[in-house]
Amino acid sequence: MGMDQDAGLPEWEVAIAGAGPIGLLLAGELAEAGIRTLVLEAAAEPSAIPKANGIVGRSARDIAQRLAGSGLRVVSPPQFPFGPVALHLGSGPRNPLHVLAVPQRRLEQLLEDRALAHGALLRRGHAVAGFVQTDSCVQIDVRGAHGENRVSAAYLVGCDGARSFVRKHAGIGFPGFTSDQIARIARVIIPADAITPAGDGFDIPGIGRVAAMRSNRLPGGGFSIAPLAALDPAAPADLYLISTHEPRGTAEPSDDVPVDELRASIRRVLSADLPFTAATAIRSTIGNSRQADAYRAGRVLLAGDAAHIFNAGGSSLNAGVQDALDLARRFVTTLRGAADVDPIDDPLDGYEAARRPAVDRVLEHTRVQAALSGDDETGRALRAVWEKLVAERAAARAVARLLEAA
Ligand SMILES: Cc1cc2nc3c(=O)[nH]c(=O)nc-3n(C[C@H](O)[C@H](O)[C@H](O)COP(=O)(O)OP(=O)(O)OC[C@H]3O[C@@H](n4cnc5c(N)ncnc54)[C@H](O)[C@@H]3O)c2cc1C
Repeated sequence: MGMDQDAGLPEWEVAIAGAGPIGLLLAGELAEAGIRTLVLEAAAEPSAIPKANGIVGRSARDIAQRLAGSGLRVVSPPQFPFGPVALHLGSGPRNPLHVLAVPQRRLEQLLEDRALAHGALLRRGHAVAGFVQTDSCVQIDVRGAHGENRVSAAYLVGCDGARSFVRKHAGIGFPGFTSDQIARIARVIIPADAITPAGDGFDIPGIGRVAAMRSNRLPGGGFSIAPLAALDPAAPADLYLISTHEPRGTAEPSDDVPVDELRASIRRVLSADLPFTAATAIRSTIGNSRQADAYRAGRVLLAGDAAHIFNAGGSSLNAGVQDALDLARRFVTTLRGAADVDPIDDPLDGYEAARRPAVDRVLEHTRVQAALSGDDETGRALRAVWEKLVAERAAARAVARLLEAA
């Protein structure tokens, strides 16, 4: 089925490509407002690859409010990393930073449940494979195990991630740059007798003292370690999330890194072996810092990683959530607004003007975080100066306000 033959109206008001956190949040917002919403997701099953461990910034409160009753709790951590530099933020209401610790898979499940409860339709195993725009709708080619079919919607939103098909097919560029660093990330089991809590980190035989929850700068690169239980209380006590950061060379990112490649990276960075007994979800990523050169092409719009990616962690969901919330409000006005709204004054036109300056600021501070992680003389000098500056609590809180906004 494509167009509603009797009314000549598209079948759906909004079709969303991608059931990641941003597509699912947008679907929930729209469906709650009674907008007929279809989510098309290429993958047949949700991805098991661990991604974000939480939402940092103003979006933490927005999401907690929408998922009230799910047991998620927003906190203002007394310490938080800004790249490799620790921000000591203190406690109480003057700490400006909000964090919602939630594994991304759980977040997606909660947002999916909410979207479906409000009446959105989610079709997994259905990839957006092409589309054409007419004056009144977008005709979308959908490909899946069942073959191909076509659906129509008044609008299509690409929430289909950094490599967005929707963005490319709409002819929207993605300017920016790719980092020369590679991060290898894994979940590892380190037996209790091989690691001892000490100070703000751990003592590891053969390695010495490493700080937890932030990057340790070493001659060979960066190393981070965090007990999973600090992020997910249900996680086993001997399970840790670790990552190494080092020059990329010719390496390509992968979702399936061999354990020997992880061990070799650890050895280069730490100049020693890490005593882990098992490693899972080993992957590598290369930082990108890019923003779409348009957020809208006619009836096609972009949100989340499809619109922007950052070369330092922690801010992507904050920015993507704000995209979805801003866009949802505009759709509600456009599709459900008062009859006397001037049709020339299209609320969707304001989407890019609202989001681009905010995302520009996130690009700025994530690029600063990446620069602070540099291993050359300049990087070391930057870190030394920044550490002195943010030793002042007021300065640390001013930097945290950058993380909070999006
Ligand atoms: C290891 C790791 C750790 C991270 N940690 C953090 C963190 O701590 N904080 C943070 O804010 N962010 C973090 N991120 C980034 C965060 O995971 C992303 O910003 C987030 O997933 C983006 O959500 P999204 O919905 O925009 O896109 P995605 O989550 O990428 O979802 C896109 C969806 O679109 C689907 N899709 C693709 N093409 C099509 C198509 N043609 N048709 C239909 N569907 C399609 C994909 O299958 C996918 O399900 C991390 C990422 C990684 C990899």
